[in-house]
Amino acid sequence: MTADLARPALPLRPELAGLEPYGAPQLDVPVLLNVNENPYAPSDAVVEDVARAVADATRTLNRYPDRDFAALRQDLADYLAVESGVRVAPEQVWAANGSNEIMLHVLQAFGGPGRTALSFSPTYSMYPEYARDTSTAWIEGRREEDFSLDPDAARAAIAQHAPSVVLLASPNNPTGTALPTDTVLAVLDAAARVPGGCVVVVDEAYGEFRRRGTPSALELLDGHPHLAVSRTMSKAFGLAGARVGYLTASTAFVDALRVVRLPYHLSAVTQAVARAALRHAPELMAQVGSLRDERDALVGWLRERGLRVADSDANFVLFGTFDDRRAVWQGLLDRGVLIREVGPQGWLRVSVGTPQETAAFKDALTQVVGLAATGNEEDR
Ligand SMILES: *Cc1c(COP(=O)(O)O)cnc(C)c1O
Repeated sequence: MTADLARPALPLRPELAGLEPYGAPQLDVPVLLNVNENPYAPSDAVVEDVARAVADATRTLNRYPDRDFAALRQDLADYLAVESGVRVAPEQVWAANGSNEIMLHVLQAFGGPGRTALSFSPTYSMYPEYARDTSTAWIEGRREEDFSLDPDAARAAIAQHAPSVVLLASPNNPTGTALPTDTVLAVLDAAARVPGGCVVVVDEAYGEFRRRGTPSALELLDGHPHLAVSRTMSKAFGLAGARVGYLTASTAFVDALRVVRLPYHLSAVTQAVARAALRHAPELMAQVGSLRDERDALVGWLRERGLRVADSDANFVLFGTFDDRRAVWQGLLDRGVLIREVGPQGWLRVSVGTPQETAAFKDALTQVVGLAATGNEEDR
């Protein structure tokens, strides 16, 4: 074949041929309950402090920022100590432009050609994309019918596939299911037996929404140098637009991520915004308690109407099942309520919004599927 010099071919990687960029639809409707954002905008006090911090950072934008963002890592370590009672050193903290970039760093450092990443579906639909983008083979194990993870099945999958990276979302997206400590310990033990090594990332993007008594994997960091726990400021913190995710692990784990990050990946403006916001952590997180209550009430309301609802430790609820979930999703959208068509066949996911938004969702759902309270909660 001779080259057409007027129209040279683009040497696209074959595995990317024909693919569309992935993402939730961004539609302009009154009630947005589709991407698990915090429905409460930052207060005026937060806005003022962040704006002042950005102004200060702007004065030195002719210079590159601190490549290792020591001050931000210290602030994040302090925040985690308050949130979870687990104290880590700043050298054990890593940050990036959203936890999706964190995951990319993990796969760049520990995945790659000839290596395998493993997770258990249904789970976060971005994981296979991070694997693809880093030329890491992707294996999807299965969760159980009730979306829990069977420790023995997890052990067997890890032994069979010998991955170098295991990704566990807890609370899981889109199901809301959190993992018990014993399950994470079983995975860590199986990972430690993989010849050549295997890291385990527990993605706690929704960690702050966990119900009382639900553990955080942060408590397991000690003694498990192959464990990392990732968090984000996008959800409970209400800062999705700032793009700040972070991870905690052993210093050796974090040092590996420092090798693969792009130089100056975290802009001076991003660092300033994150640090200013962290000063307001209690205020930014004030709604977490009411969002949790709102979630539990929504789970009850849906169950009272005979729907199946997955237990949720997150700020969203997976419910169903519908023969034609697309029609239900569309019916809600026609009434100005955008939720997410995601997860196993027949299920839909709705984020917990303000009480007004939740009311709008309930009204719309009642109209679309003709719901009536049955009076007896279906236990599932
Ligand atoms: C929303 C979400 C994230 C957060 O992504 P950011 O890039 O930090 O905004 C991470 N993991 C899961 C499972 C999520 O649902």
